[in-house]
Amino acid sequence: MTGQLLIAGGRVIDPANGVDGKLDVLIEGGAVAAVGAALSAPGARRVDAHGCIVTPGFIDLHAHLREPGFEQKGTIATETLAALRGGFTTVCAMPNTMPAPDSAPVVAALLERIARDAVVRVLPIGCVTRRREGHELADLAELAAAGCIAFSDDGSPVADGRLMRNALALAGAVGLPISEHSDDPVLNGDGVMHEGRVSERLGLAGQPAAAEIAAIARNIALCETTGGRLHIAHVSTARSVELVADAKARGLAVTCEVTPSHLLLTEDAVFGPGPEPAYDTNARINPPLRTEADRRALLRGVNDGVIDAIATDHAPHAREDKLCEFDFAAPGISCFETALGSIGLVVSRGELDFARALAALTSGPVRVFGLAARVPGIGTLSVGARDVVVFDPEARWTVDVARFASKGKNSPLQGHGLCGEIRAVVAGGRLAFAPEAVHA
Ligand SMILES: [Zn+2]
Repeated sequence: MTGQLLIAGGRVIDPANGVDGKLDVLIEGGAVAAVGAALSAPGARRVDAHGCIVTPGFIDLHAHLREPGFEQKGTIATETLAALRGGFTTVCAMPNTMPAPDSAPVVAALLERIARDAVVRVLPIGCVTRRREGHELADLAELAAAGCIAFSDDGSPVADGRLMRNALALAGAVGLPISEHSDDPVLNGDGVMHEGRVSERLGLAGQPAAAEIAAIARNIALCETTGGRLHIAHVSTARSVELVADAKARGLAVTCEVTPSHLLLTEDAVFGPGPEPAYDTNARINPPLRTEADRRALLRGVNDGVIDAIATDHAPHAREDKLCEFDFAAPGISCFETALGSIGLVVSRGELDFARALAALTSGPVRVFGLAARVPGIGTLSVGARDVVVFDPEARWTVDVARFASKGKNSPLQGHGLCGEIRAVVAGGRLAFAPEAVHA
């Protein structure tokens, strides 16, 4: 039997239950047993949470763990450790692996690896199409029965509109959402960054905002036609947020997420951190970092609740994937370990509402993927909940990618000052990470 753990003296924020106050959290038998003022638990191990926020473990709707098939970039063991250290106790794994989870046996093999190696909860997202090739639908009912919690071909959009229509209808029939990387690959052509001022200055081929906007408009129209559930992955333009707001206002089952990278950075990150304009391949990401006006619209989207979730799109890469010309660099940012600090930084500047941001990391994702029915208490501090994060919202620190637990050291934030640092994480009822906060 697990002993008692008392997380004492912190500010408890539990968005799902409307709790915000100076309270203690008692963990007993691997789950939250009580949340209250000045709880007494003689003999319990204590986490001193003074000056800290205590909140449900973060839930990431969008991450790339790379295993199986791309273990040189990351493994379930390394990337879930990175997630844990970033405060994420539940991670939804995107299916761009080799093999891709497009059938029940592949999902079963993936779940075996997860059971063996993961240090946080990993929920698999199944493919929309066979081998993620975009030609023929996977058996979505079979994937749902095998344990997938949503469907996506992320990394690629479902470019074929007729396939997407059928996919939304079939996914809707089994009650699961499609998380769509909404993009028009033909319009993007050879683009490698946002089409605009910076791409012109650097002579790089651009990805027009219209490629994302047009795809989102199409997907919303198909959602309306089919009655399916559409989740727009990583929105990156101002107009994308408006389209989602409009769809919601019309009562459609449309949700969306934004990455911490797009809330903090703009196309200027491609210039790199130095005084001279350069080509920072670590700032290459899909969808690309956009303009300051877009970034401000994304922040507004979280602040007013149009954006349901902050999801990392954690995408570790090997060194050689980024040590090359910009045009050939693999897109993606290693993000688990900088997510909270990035969010905290924009909060500290007064750009992002703290309570909304925490909801977008906890209760929001639960609603989007309907996780409450699968994992009791997930995204809450209700009695029985098993995941708790303690972080210091004021702590300033400097990113050093060499210290990442992730195999992916690919971050444009190297050397960047961030705000907000994880102090302790209870994952699955167990104190799994606590660099210095615990007292016997
Ligand atoms: Zn994507």
